[in-house]
Amino acid sequence: KAKSGRRGVTIVFDSTEDREMKETVALERALREGDLERELFLQFQPQYSPSEHRFVGFEALARWQSPSLGPVRPDKFIRSAERSGHIRKVTSILFSKGLEALRTWPEPLTLSFNLSAQDISDRSFMLSLLDMIHQNGISPKRVEFEITETAVMADVDTACALLAELRLAGCKIALDDFGSGYSSFEYLDALPLDKVKVDKSFVRKVAHNVTSREIVAGLIDLCRKLDLRCVLEGVETDDEMMILSPLQPDLIQGYLFGKPMGAIEARDAAARLEAAAGSVDEPVGARA
Ligand code: C2E
Ligand code: MG
Ligand code: MG
Ligand code: MG
Repeated sequence: KAKSGRRGVTIVFDSTEDREMKETVALERALREGDLERELFLQFQPQYSPSEHRFVGFEALARWQSPSLGPVRPDKFIRSAERSGHIRKVTSILFSKGLEALRTWPEPLTLSFNLSAQDISDRSFMLSLLDMIHQNGISPKRVEFEITETAVMADVDTACALLAELRLAGCKIALDDFGSGYSSFEYLDALPLDKVKVDKSFVRKVAHNVTSREIVAGLIDLCRKLDLRCVLEGVETDDEMMILSPLQPDLIQGYLFGKPMGAIEARDAAARLEAAAGSVDEPVGARA
């Protein structure tokens, strides 16, 4: 910002760090003072099974409509909540809303829920989430937790033990964003997993890039050999689908099959597809 007046020029420095600092403070304040129970909500994005021509479940994606800041992107406010010690509160509010939605969906549909590092490092907190599942009368089999390598990196042994405990209770575990950042093949071996989600950065490139295509093909193959289910994230176009289909991924999640949507819309979309799959034998483009 620069101001010029008759008596000279006043320059107000507003450096990038300065702006970021102000933004951080504003975010943390809005988290601290907001009515998160009302302001936080979820959207649900379908996971499509190409072999069954149906949605098997939905991933819950956090949304925050702050009265003071407007809509805030989830990666932004989740990070801020982690830094300022609000993450457990945020997670349990969201998880409770996720279970509320799941209760209204027909039995086979599942809910995938993202956990952050601090959630996983806290055993009693995680057990409280399990408790919420039971209190809602929901089968733990219908609940899947998504974790990233950064969430388990700090203490792999502790994370392993806890994830094993969650699986023993019946929940599923998915490794998210695989292939991005610092994710390592080591985790496929070390962690008790049911599913791997291949990061959308690969999928985005398959239509133009042979190397990405081979990498995705290799990852799908690897998952099959390790008896892990494989989800391809970020499929947006028919072209991509044409390339990816022959590789026979277990599940596809991306805008092509549905953007994140409300809980009722999600249930209806799943039912519509179910009905269509029953009446035609051609795979149905399930665009919501
Ligand atoms: P994620 O868990 O990898 O979620 C997938 C992200 O990819 C979502 O972004 C989704 O909207 C987006 N996406 C899905 N399909 C497509 C596609 O075809 N094209 C493109 N370009 N994008 C697609 P979103 O909702 O902005 O979430 C961003 C991240 O924030 C999530 O990445 C997750 O790491 C985090 N997050 C979201 N909700 C929660 C939550 O409840 N708890 C925690 N701890 N983290 C969350
Ligand atoms: Mg996820
Ligand atoms: Mg992901
Ligand atoms: Mg992510």
